[in-house]
Amino acid sequence: METYKFTEEVAVAGSYDVIVAGGGVAGVAAAVSASRMGKKALLIEKTITLGGLATIGLINFFVPMCNGRGTKIIKGMAQEFFDLSIKYGFDTVPSDWKDGNPPADTKQRYVTKFSIPIFIVALTELLKNEGVDILFDTVVSKPVMEGGVCRGVIVENKTGREMYLCKMIVDTTGDADVLYRAGVPTIQGTNFQTFLAKGVTLETCEEVVKTGDIAKLTCGYDGGFANLYGKNHPEGHRFWKGTDAHDVTDYVVESHINLLNNIRNDDRKTRDIIQLPTMPQFRTTRCIEGDYVFTQEDVYKHFDDSVGAICDFERKNYLYEVPFGTLVRKGFPNIITAGRCASGKGYGWDLLRVIPPAIITGQAAGIAASMAIDSGKAIYDIDIKSLQKTLEEQDVIIHFDDSLVIPGEAEKVDVGHI
Ligand SMILES: Cc1cc2nc3c(=O)[nH]c(=O)nc-3n(C[C@H](O)[C@H](O)[C@H](O)COP(=O)(O)OP(=O)(O)OC[C@H]3O[C@@H](n4cnc5c(N)ncnc54)[C@H](O)[C@@H]3O)c2cc1C
Repeated sequence: METYKFTEEVAVAGSYDVIVAGGGVAGVAAAVSASRMGKKALLIEKTITLGGLATIGLINFFVPMCNGRGTKIIKGMAQEFFDLSIKYGFDTVPSDWKDGNPPADTKQRYVTKFSIPIFIVALTELLKNEGVDILFDTVVSKPVMEGGVCRGVIVENKTGREMYLCKMIVDTTGDADVLYRAGVPTIQGTNFQTFLAKGVTLETCEEVVKTGDIAKLTCGYDGGFANLYGKNHPEGHRFWKGTDAHDVTDYVVESHINLLNNIRNDDRKTRDIIQLPTMPQFRTTRCIEGDYVFTQEDVYKHFDDSVGAICDFERKNYLYEVPFGTLVRKGFPNIITAGRCASGKGYGWDLLRVIPPAIITGQAAGIAASMAIDSGKAIYDIDIKSLQKTLEEQDVIIHFDDSLVIPGEAEKVDVGHI
């Protein structure tokens, strides 16, 4: 490949304790939790909208936060965001969970859909109220490394190219952009053809009027409908990586044309498409190969360095714990990740990346970054017991209760298009 070398001096635009790269749910959780620990935090987001896949990716569904038998497993900041997502807009919380106290052994799972635009503006208000600085419309393009230490990040925005200094960096780009460019080993994922849009029809409008429930307004349109396991992926079709500009561009062009082909012959006065995803709906692009790689074989395992218990979105009864080692990599003392780029493989990666666990790992990353600054230790050497204590004080369940473990086959449930 032809190369061109240039050097450039850039302005240092600011200096922070903690910089969070990427404002999806994991990034917002990390920034809020660092700020609540008294740290000066900056969240940098390349779009002008918080929430990432959960909002601009149109994935407005909190997967189950319970074990499928009436007990909440995921709480802490995931519960806070769940509540915020429906505070000013509609919800689809199942009847048994409406007042937060389901009957023992209910089979209904604790989930909700939410209004995307309303959750977005509520997240912006949350960050402002928590004293987090935000830089929208700004891409984190490069970590500045000295050995394994990240001194700060180069950003690109309307001002031009600038540097922000930091003591700790949290990579919540969903694609491990910062970590990869810092030299942290990563795992590359593959993605099927999925492009889900939201529309309205005369029928959905009628249904809203009939039921008085605005949650029924939208219906699905698509430019590719592959599910988590690749069902409906066109036979022989390429897979998407999501970590290469041309790959992403081809995906968007193909998806748009597919969508148009799917609606071209409809009666144009009877329906409209009201929301297109404005970030690619790739599930697993790139995550770190952390000090621990989480897999589904970790079911029912207790970890000494757990930062939170999580459940299986597809299978009732299945319980896990997320080890801190999935968020860090030895040799990189001031870099941590959370959310979609946490270290996992196969279905284990899927379990880690969905909305509630992404928020829990974000919460843990923000606290851990703060503790590393206070103690002057490498992020992977912080006192895990103190981290766990702080998380517990913030209502996170660190270790699942063994009495909830049911031997034998767990029940598989279909919760839709994860
Ligand atoms: C098709 C599909 C269906 C899904 N279904 C569900 C579901 O039903 N329920 C569920 O709970 N989960 C579901 N998920 C998973 C879930 O939505 C995501 O994994 C989760 O929201 C990830 O959150 P995150 O904050 O880790 O990352 P992301 O949401 O990917 O956020 C990353 C953020 O970083 C920003 N960013 C990226 N690079 C940079 C950069 N260089 N500089 C600055 N900013 C940057 C992005 O703009 C984005 O805002 C689904 C995912 C897909 C793709």
